[in-house]
Amino acid sequence: MGNNKFVGAHTSASGGVFNAVNNAVDIGAKAFALFTKNQKRWDAKPFDAKTLDMWFEALEKSGIQPKHILPHDSYLINLGHPEEEKLQKSRDAFIDELQRCEVLGLDRLNFHPGSHLVKLSAKEKKDEVFLADVENRCLDVIAESINIALDKTSNVKAVIENTAGQGTNLGYTFEHLAYIIDKVEDKSRVGVCIDTCHMFVAGYDIRTRAAYDKTWGDFDRIVGSDKLMGMHINDSKPPLGSKKDRHHSIGEGEIGLDAFKFIMNDERMDDIPLVLETINSDIWKQEIELLYSFVE
Ligand SMILES: [Zn+2]
Ligand SMILES: [Zn+2]
Repeated sequence: MGNNKFVGAHTSASGGVFNAVNNAVDIGAKAFALFTKNQKRWDAKPFDAKTLDMWFEALEKSGIQPKHILPHDSYLINLGHPEEEKLQKSRDAFIDELQRCEVLGLDRLNFHPGSHLVKLSAKEKKDEVFLADVENRCLDVIAESINIALDKTSNVKAVIENTAGQGTNLGYTFEHLAYIIDKVEDKSRVGVCIDTCHMFVAGYDIRTRAAYDKTWGDFDRIVGSDKLMGMHINDSKPPLGSKKDRHHSIGEGEIGLDAFKFIMNDERMDDIPLVLETINSDIWKQEIELLYSFVE
């Protein structure tokens, strides 16, 4: 049961993707996340043969399996962009990201769904019908983007991350995630990554046994735990429902330790990458040890 957890962190790939593997090994990780290119740039050169050799060699030595690696796409990409030209640019970049994963032998890519970017008045924000209409139209565009990208690649799964709900970012409710999945044609190639900080600031409480069971019961009903393909394990600086995305080290934020004890003993989280994106990389090794110490 408990020994089926694969915990790691989003390690640095600076100097080459193989460094992300080595950095993961250094902190005792059994899983990791990485950017396969500079996350703040649109373009990237294809991997050269030497880089690929070093990647596969490092991976083999590490014993970490591809399914426990959760690459994250560039922050520039907005698959729900309202402007045609910018949407196209995002779609092209997303396809390139998926292809880079395939070249690295990876089977999943984590991304934030997108933002509608509509400037809403205070009145419009409070108008639930109006807001849902704006959001659903953007979710339709996101689903279409995923369909196009999956069509142009062959085996990488699109793993949608839940968001904090900051600004006009979508994906902050389980319903948003389910709405997108419902419109994706190839259901075998779409899943979700749940970020505990994002979940909490979006209003999903996981701090007590009862709250945790309620939240994950909702998840099972609305999205389905078979769709869970990774998690980001973060504590949160801002409080429940604040919609502010500020991560914190495990046990130091508003979520507290109990939620992470529940996670480490929850079979929904078996055999998927559990990735720290906490703020102090100097203590990742200790955080990983702490998380494993929770396994009963
Ligand atoms: Zn995250
Ligand atoms: Zn975040």
